[in-house]
Amino acid sequence: MLSNKKIMLSEEDLPKKWYNILPDLPEPLPPPLHPETKEPLKPEDLEPIFAKELIKQEMSNERWISIPEEVREVYKLWRPTPLIRAKRLEEALKTPARIYYKYEGVSPPGSHKPNTAVAQAYYNAKEGVERLTTETGAGQWGSALSFATKVFDLKCTVYMVKVSYQQKPYRRILMETWGGEVIPSPSNRTKSGRAILERDPENPGSLGIAISEAVEDAVVHEDTKYSLGSVLNHVLMHQTVIGLEVMKQLEIAEENPNILIGCVGGGSNFAGFCYPFVKDAIEGKLKLIAVEPEACPTFTKGEYRYDFGDTVGLTPLLKMFTLGHEFIPPPIHAGGLRYHGDAPTMSLLVKHGIIEARAVKQIPTFEAGILFARTEGIVPAPESNHAIRVAIDEALKAKERDEEKVIVFNLSGHGYFDLAAYDDFLYGRLKNA
Ligand SMILES: *Cc1c(COP(=O)(O)O)cnc(C)c1O
Repeated sequence: MLSNKKIMLSEEDLPKKWYNILPDLPEPLPPPLHPETKEPLKPEDLEPIFAKELIKQEMSNERWISIPEEVREVYKLWRPTPLIRAKRLEEALKTPARIYYKYEGVSPPGSHKPNTAVAQAYYNAKEGVERLTTETGAGQWGSALSFATKVFDLKCTVYMVKVSYQQKPYRRILMETWGGEVIPSPSNRTKSGRAILERDPENPGSLGIAISEAVEDAVVHEDTKYSLGSVLNHVLMHQTVIGLEVMKQLEIAEENPNILIGCVGGGSNFAGFCYPFVKDAIEGKLKLIAVEPEACPTFTKGEYRYDFGDTVGLTPLLKMFTLGHEFIPPPIHAGGLRYHGDAPTMSLLVKHGIIEARAVKQIPTFEAGILFARTEGIVPAPESNHAIRVAIDEALKAKERDEEKVIVFNLSGHGYFDLAAYDDFLYGRLKNA
């Protein structure tokens, strides 16, 4: 074990391939089904919506897929990201455990999300697409895609849930700074939006409605495709640059990890961080822990079955852990974790017991985030606070048992656009949902 604080890689160490978990799953992944016929989906079914290369990746059985040089060049704006020893946090906890975190908040939009946004924008631009549409809740995904489309000279239209548009202007401004067009949803741009506004002009919007608008916009325009920020196989695969870097960094640190921890909304940062280590988990060498909010307990209280990806029921059916596509979680501050389903590949690994899932309440996650900020300095995203909570719990368990565990977690993003949530916590207004 070295005594370095930060373990940095050089740009030459940036992975040259993404890791695709499909051929290494303990059983074949149940196929996505057509929403109407309920037959397994054919690649052609997805072509009005996604770039061809992304559909190919979605269904690929190749274990390693080359990262285009153009994408690696953009990754170099912030990658490789640091792996940092949380020594001051260890000291505050008086734990014999060694805690490390991978910091994805150093990217331009401040989270892991551009790892896939950049790849998706690249393939769409290469295939002659001129514009991408997407939905965004609090704005993290929309800002990552606005940044990535600008890099490859595409236009970007983001349907943003109307209440967030009104209440959280900073991410909207960030999207517009990168040249994205941001439309409060429901809008009168689409048939689905107009239908809702006719019935209810004051409708505050929801992620489900915004998805319907973004997909419809892509389907009715020849030069336009849609882009999704989590859940799908190709999205999770693009994120594996995180875990592949961590593997090299732990080797440099001369550490063998015992526990890897990440938070879960749809599963992309967790998968990106942990999938390269799944083989070790199957061999019993380490433990993988996925953390979700008690307010949206998809893995811990949901069912493993086919369900729609959106609220309205227009998307293909995916076999996954789900709370039901009509489930509306309470408005917790970790907006990125309020999704009714989880990625199909991750769901399969949880079903097989290869990934352990835990749910935590909101106030303990902010207590963890505040302790982290006061020891390590960085103010974490409310989503990331879920991973920090369990990292601290495991470090305290190691202290009780006097065990020298090596705990590594993914700090998926910073919280500098979420200070209102910290204000609520600091002044006692935060509900313990
Ligand atoms: C979007 C987001 C998440 C949740 O999404 P996943 O696809 O589960 O990773 C977690 N953390 C941050 C900072 C996010 O922006």
